[in-house]
Amino acid sequence: MAEIRSVGVVGGGQMGSGIAQLVAVNGLEVWLHDSDSTALSKAHQSISSTIQSLVSKGRLTKEKGAEAVRNLKYTSSLEDFGSVDIVIEAIVESEEVKKKLFTRLDSIVKESAILASNTSSISITRLASATSRPSQVIGMHFMNPPPIMKLVEIIRGANTSDDTFNATKCLAERLGKKIVCSQDFSGFIVNRILMPMINEAFHALYTGVATKEDIDAGMKLGTNHPMGPLELADHIGLDVCLSIMKVLHAGLGDSKYAPCPLLVQYVDAGRLGRKKGVGVYKYS
Ligand code: NAD
Repeated sequence: MAEIRSVGVVGGGQMGSGIAQLVAVNGLEVWLHDSDSTALSKAHQSISSTIQSLVSKGRLTKEKGAEAVRNLKYTSSLEDFGSVDIVIEAIVESEEVKKKLFTRLDSIVKESAILASNTSSISITRLASATSRPSQVIGMHFMNPPPIMKLVEIIRGANTSDDTFNATKCLAERLGKKIVCSQDFSGFIVNRILMPMINEAFHALYTGVATKEDIDAGMKLGTNHPMGPLELADHIGLDVCLSIMKVLHAGLGDSKYAPCPLLVQYVDAGRLGRKKGVGVYKYS
């Protein structure tokens, strides 16, 4: 099993930028690509200022901070991924868009490279079918925010090899994460359980069971969750939550996974959560 030294990350949104920062801080070279130049420069600014703030708070030495900055390369061209050992894809949660990207990556990266997806719910086996290397495709699902959350969920597709699994596990451990392994079923472990809870919180709000504040306080104080489900939905992104519910609904075929109409309406209205300044709550 070859050691991973260089990583490509596609998608510089909340997850991709956090993953790129985590990889760079842990001493590996990382290329970050986003098809939207504004998103790429936003990711560049946010990662640089986070590293600076970690150094000024003494949580990273000056030398380690400088090394992390040197490790990071930002590119608007996927062709720069020719020498990376693994690509971690963190773009929009759409099977069609991800498949197109996997086909393209398959023709750009070197033969030995692994193609990993940070998908929250989409079948790894189906993403792998868009490539000529299904044994080197795997799910590497980081939690939000990636530099802080301790877990990486690893999902093997039907054809994922032991070598691919072992190299991905080693990378996750090198990044300081604990891993859990899930079979390739819609939503895997974490979102199979979390998203129906969030969807149910929307139903509670939609049907007037309680105010948003009381629903969140009820779950925080009543079940010891650090965030209420509606607050957490805003943190994740309501568009991401809706996409995951659609995958669960289609993939598991049970009406209990149908997205709550209020969640659908908020997304239609552009209320996507913290990243847009408004979701269930308003953020200044
Ligand atoms: P986001 O909307 O913050 O970022 C997505 C980024 O991908 C955007 O910057 C967009 O410009 C870019 N992009 C879209 N299509 C692209 C393409 N074809 N090529 C290159 N860049 C492209 O989304 P996010 O919340 O970071 O989620 C990304 C992925 O991570 C999704 O699959 C999501 O399900 C998963 N995920 C999200 C969370 C969460 O809490 N938000 C947690 C775990 C996993």
